[in-house]
Amino acid sequence: MNLNANLRKVTERIARAAERTDRRVEEIKLIAVSKTQPAELLREAYEAGYRTFGENKVTEAEDKVSQLGLTAEWHLIGHLQSNKARKAVRIFDVIQTLDSVELAARLERVCVEEGRQSLEVFVQVDLAGEETKSGIPETLLDALVEFLSRCERLKFTGLMILPPFSEDLEEIRPYFIRLREIRDRLAKDGAFHIGSGELSMGMSHDFEIAIEEGATIVRVGTSIFGSRQTQL
Ligand SMILES: *Cc1c(COP(=O)(O)O)cnc(C)c1O
Repeated sequence: MNLNANLRKVTERIARAAERTDRRVEEIKLIAVSKTQPAELLREAYEAGYRTFGENKVTEAEDKVSQLGLTAEWHLIGHLQSNKARKAVRIFDVIQTLDSVELAARLERVCVEEGRQSLEVFVQVDLAGEETKSGIPETLLDALVEFLSRCERLKFTGLMILPPFSEDLEEIRPYFIRLREIRDRLAKDGAFHIGSGELSMGMSHDFEIAIEEGATIVRVGTSIFGSRQTQL
């Protein structure tokens, strides 16, 4: 595995997808999804130029953050249990998986207790009604957004989605379109902390169509690091 070559390839794929839809490549941020990968590999990735890492488990991330330091940017992209909220507030720059008012209330309170002035949060939306996955159903989204508008520390930055896996990209595309439409509606209401709201969508196999549909953040693991040891 060659991290430099992979970075080049992924960056090129991002650029081509952006070009197809007349988007500027600077609008799209790449998150290197480093879950299950050892800290030494993250260090190599850092040296190859990656600066933003996505982890899906708080305790696993804790080790890596302490080894790599805080010069990198850390995003939590896995489900957050409320008993890990404090640790998450200490470690992560961005939490992409907020999915309930209860969790938001907890994070806000922990930020106050920990003296953290601001924490960027994305709301993860579940548009497929998948019981097993995290994410807030669309019917409950507005109540959470309203709650966030009253939080002082939590900064509502964007929406995130993890659609059901499919080999057929055209089955995935409608989820990306729908998330963009929701983002646009919320942006019109001035719901986001700044700007028109980020869209975190797209992984190794589908980030090109995510970009075509407006992704501003793509979360790429295997195309950068190769396949993972353990299936998550
Ligand atoms: C693992 C993971 C990714 C990256 O998946 P790849 O297919 O390895 O690119 C992206 N987003 C989330 C939420 C993940 O858990």
